[in-house]
Amino acid sequence: MSQKLVAVKGMNDLMSPQIELWQFVERTAREMFGTWGYSEIRTPIVEDTALFVRSVGEVTDIVSKEMYTFEDKGGRSLTMRPENTAPAVRAYIEHGLGQQPLTRWYYLGPMFRYERMKTGRYRQFYQLGAEAYGPADASQDVENIALAWSFLKAIGIQHVTLHLNSLGDAADRPRYLEALKAYFAPHVATFSEAARDTFERNTMRLLDTKEEALRPLVAGAPVIGDFLGDAARAHFDEVQALLTKLEIPFVLDRSLVRGLDYYTRTTFEFIYEPPSGESTLGTAGTVCGGGRYDNLVHELGGPEKPAVGFAMGLDRLVLLLEALGTQAPLRPLLFVATMEGELKAHAFKLVTDLRLKGLAVDFDPRGGKIKRQAERASAVKARHFVVYGQSEHEAKVLKIKNMDLPDADPNKEVSVPLDDLAPWLLNASKAVSVSSSP
Ligand code: ATP
Ligand code: MG
Repeated sequence: MSQKLVAVKGMNDLMSPQIELWQFVERTAREMFGTWGYSEIRTPIVEDTALFVRSVGEVTDIVSKEMYTFEDKGGRSLTMRPENTAPAVRAYIEHGLGQQPLTRWYYLGPMFRYERMKTGRYRQFYQLGAEAYGPADASQDVENIALAWSFLKAIGIQHVTLHLNSLGDAADRPRYLEALKAYFAPHVATFSEAARDTFERNTMRLLDTKEEALRPLVAGAPVIGDFLGDAARAHFDEVQALLTKLEIPFVLDRSLVRGLDYYTRTTFEFIYEPPSGESTLGTAGTVCGGGRYDNLVHELGGPEKPAVGFAMGLDRLVLLLEALGTQAPLRPLLFVATMEGELKAHAFKLVTDLRLKGLAVDFDPRGGKIKRQAERASAVKARHFVVYGQSEHEAKVLKIKNMDLPDADPNKEVSVPLDDLAPWLLNASKAVSVSSSP
């Protein structure tokens, strides 16, 4: 017997009813990010492995354990992108955009990480990100953060807290690293081999460790905030002042270091923290992470260009929307029940004409008993229902039932002349999109 074929572990099929939420989130993102001056960039799914090793960093979890790396038939080492900041920077440099004073991009698409999967943590997952290259000014950091914040609000996500920190400038690092090394050094003998390796090769990454045994030690480690130089300190103060000005609440989180090597100055995360304390996402509560990366463009071979950006986990946002009971407004406006023969052809023509006018109208090609067709209308959550019978055809008037109203409601059924049907439905669709957008 042949083996049962199933999707790869950690990779999901996305379909109705969740797909309508995905589409709602994506539609809102494209509209909103465009309005904020960000244009879309689409880079390939696979890149040269070296791109991620050099940008994300060799001693990070992503590069050391989580990458889907393979050799192609030409012997090149390729990697399925685990994140999209490095590919975007690669494209930015490759197309000579460093000539321009300001480039703002957003991206939306699948990323791949070989992770231990659970709710909200998958091996193929989707990120929506926004990057701004050029301005070093604090207002650019805050614009980027405000975009993430406004987007979460626009799709109806509540109870997310903005966590904020500064990692200082590259020039502030050596003093901090020295203090960090001195702090951990007396304990290294007790470390696991992996932790010892991290200590040797990239000490700061210990702060991001997933090893429980190390947590208490890490909790007492020196924090970068005490080592900021004057410029980074002033920048961080301004970021906070501007966030306050825009009335975006935040908490300072001195231990927030993020899992990628390229960050400088501002770093931030939006974390889902419901008042009950019970999170549907468990440990996967971070819905967005980002920050400044002022040296990455140069490190990857481009000009000196400060930059800032974030990435949001769309899988997690859709899970939250589902838990909130959010309904994507994509129900058919009208369901047409059909009779047999000539009448069915008339009804079919009507459905098609209305669809060509952009109206969401549905019917059941199988026909059959009206009761069964009505059940089908309920199953697809149609807002209105009509039977296209002989008398309707002759009188050219349809009796339209509003499926959302109780039977006793005097507006439950209205008569609409066939000639007025399209504008009548258009009107109904406007009323619907106002009342039911989440
Ligand atoms: P985490 O601490 O949850 O592992 P991260 O620091 O690795 O997150 P980033 O690399 O900053 O995350 O990615 C930005 C966002 O992408 C995360 O905040 C999260 O919402 C989402 N994300 C990251 N990894 C996954 C995954 N394996 N499955 C689903 N979403 C993910
Ligand atoms: Mg991670």
